[in-house]
Amino acid sequence: MDLSGLKDKLSYVRKVNDNIAIGALTTPEDLAETFLHKDKKYLGFYDIYKKFASPILKPLATIGGNIGVAVSASDYLTFLLTLNAKVKLVSVEGERLVSLEELVVEKRTLAKDPNELIYEIIFPELPENYSTAFMKIDRREVIVTGYITTAVCLKIENNKIADVRIAFDRVNKRIPSRAKKTEEFLKGKEFSVDIIREAYNKVLPAEMVRKSDFRASGEYRLDLSKVLMKRTLLQAKSRIVEGV
Ligand SMILES: Cc1cc2nc3c(=O)[nH]c(=O)nc-3n(C[C@H](O)[C@H](O)[C@H](O)COP(=O)(O)OP(=O)(O)OC[C@H]3O[C@@H](n4cnc5c(N)ncnc54)[C@H](O)[C@@H]3O)c2cc1C
Repeated sequence: MDLSGLKDKLSYVRKVNDNIAIGALTTPEDLAETFLHKDKKYLGFYDIYKKFASPILKPLATIGGNIGVAVSASDYLTFLLTLNAKVKLVSVEGERLVSLEELVVEKRTLAKDPNELIYEIIFPELPENYSTAFMKIDRREVIVTGYITTAVCLKIENNKIADVRIAFDRVNKRIPSRAKKTEEFLKGKEFSVDIIREAYNKVLPAEMVRKSDFRASGEYRLDLSKVLMKRTLLQAKSRIVEGV
């Protein structure tokens, strides 16, 4: 079904009460025009944009379709998990709000009726001392699908990890997920490279199951996941503390 007739109605970024709402037909190019690419708290959106597909796709791909396709290469889906996003579904029978985590149940499988449209994505505004980062690794520089992607949302208070959410393209299913045991281990601890290293060596491998395929081995993917976890956390921290 072609939704482009709804482009004017469903392409927006709005602050509503203490939430941010993004219309389902908003594209990476549209997002680039908004505060989400400028406010240091939301620079994860900018990180995605830099490595998203190709210049041709940036004005065409939609954030709703990124969730709708529900694959491990859905970069916005991975990132939105760290923002505790919810999705507004609308059909002729009415509308409902469902958490992104509950909506995406397996690869290419959403817990929604076929007649329900992804209408908008909503997440709570981030308070001060929070920031985000997103990174992916691929051999190619254009049309980057990514072997591994990692997104983080971090809160630092007095150099302590006051809150942390970490998502990968996959953790133990074939869809983007949060590494919740690793998050729990890090919460409340002093921020340091040593503690991140301990988390990704002791805790992450216990919850992450990486498979091998023709593009990369499971071991290599787990190693890269650790590297990206460290880099994204350092990047988010630098954005909080130094604003860059
Ligand atoms: C060459 C290439 C490179 C790519 N690179 C990237 C990349 O770097 N990062 C990335 O994340 N993705 C990438 N993608 C995948 C794709 O472009 C994105 O996932 C895009 O956001 C999908 O949006 P779309 O509007 O094209 O969705 P579509 O492909 O049109 O739809 C995807 C699915 O979602 C359903 N759907 C779409 N919109 C809605 C809605 N509003 N309500 C309910 N269901 C809906 C459709 O029915 C379909 O099942 C790439 C694709 C290609 C072809």
